[in-house]
Amino acid sequence: MTARAQRNLATRVRVRDDLADLTPYGAPQLDVPVRLNTNETSYPVPAAVLDAIADAIRGLELHRYPDREATELREGLALHAGHGLEGTWAANGSNEVLQQLLLAFAGPGRSALVVEPTYAMHSLIARTTGTRVVTRVQPRDLPITPQMADELVAEAGADLTFWCSPNNPTGEASSRETIAAVCRAAPGLVVVDEAYGEFGRSRAADLLVSFPNLVVTRTFSKAFRMAGLRLGYLLADPAVVDGLRLVRLPYHLSAVTQVAALRALAHVGVLMDHIAVTERERERVAGALDAMAGVEVMPSDANFLCFSTPIAPRRLWRGLLGRGVLVRDVSAYPTLDRHLRVSIGTPAENDAFLRALDAELA
Ligand code: PMP
Repeated sequence: MTARAQRNLATRVRVRDDLADLTPYGAPQLDVPVRLNTNETSYPVPAAVLDAIADAIRGLELHRYPDREATELREGLALHAGHGLEGTWAANGSNEVLQQLLLAFAGPGRSALVVEPTYAMHSLIARTTGTRVVTRVQPRDLPITPQMADELVAEAGADLTFWCSPNNPTGEASSRETIAAVCRAAPGLVVVDEAYGEFGRSRAADLLVSFPNLVVTRTFSKAFRMAGLRLGYLLADPAVVDGLRLVRLPYHLSAVTQVAALRALAHVGVLMDHIAVTERERERVAGALDAMAGVEVMPSDANFLCFSTPIAPRRLWRGLLGRGVLVRDVSAYPTLDRHLRVSIGTPAENDAFLRALDAELA
């Protein structure tokens, strides 16, 4: 391309000014034997469930648009969650649910609060929707109390407050009292991101009856073993769902996704039967990490552990990768400059991780 053509292109293909300093989000997708960097479940979907999904897909009329309201799926999700149909909504992964929430309830002229360190997509999706991001940092050595949450959220005064419980990347769940305090103090919507809720004790949905400004988002990507399906959902007041109808794209949820998710719901018991093993493994790995010199592990209610290391996280990350184990380097997050995060996999994968870590630290 000539210099003139290049200049021409640069003036015509110009990303929005407020996005110019962003880099695309995404963990490396590398083909290594032990992948413990994105908190999926290591156990594949059982063949019987895959067969049921395949049968359901075969029965679809793919020449027709899907049900725009995804009513049957939302009924299934509502039943699963113990919530009303009108306040239950689904989209392509909980990331899309979050995006729709920001489009409808935040955006230009409005703000969203994120308490760091937390899931990076909260602030990133907020920015891409033109929402002003208000950031507060939770000191590592100061576990949040209901009173602190109340003061922090009231002072920030954001139109939409993100609250991640269990929190990614640190792992701890907020108490019911803390979430109630957040809902009471927030001037607008409170989005409790419960992507890892099935693993711990976090059940914010119990509070929905008391707080009409509470939204609970969940996903099929973690405990449900279906990250590849791309399904997320939310539980909220029906007025929230009405708002989302204004911003969702027509037929946003494909017929394939809708029937596959319905089949998954019919097999929820089998799909989730790994949770007990995963939680047991989490405690075993946490114990082993704690026993390593210079390593400190944070308490976790999720399917991952966040730990500090005596050597530079980036160097350790590369060393582990060299031994075929992919974990997440979270050292760029506020207060986590010495930390890595590891997903809990099968016992064999967890052993491979612990062996590789032991060797790297030696
Ligand atoms: N929330 C949190 C806290 C997450 O960690 C993730 C995925 N890493 C998501 C939401 C999004 O998940 P999905 O879009 O796959 O539902």
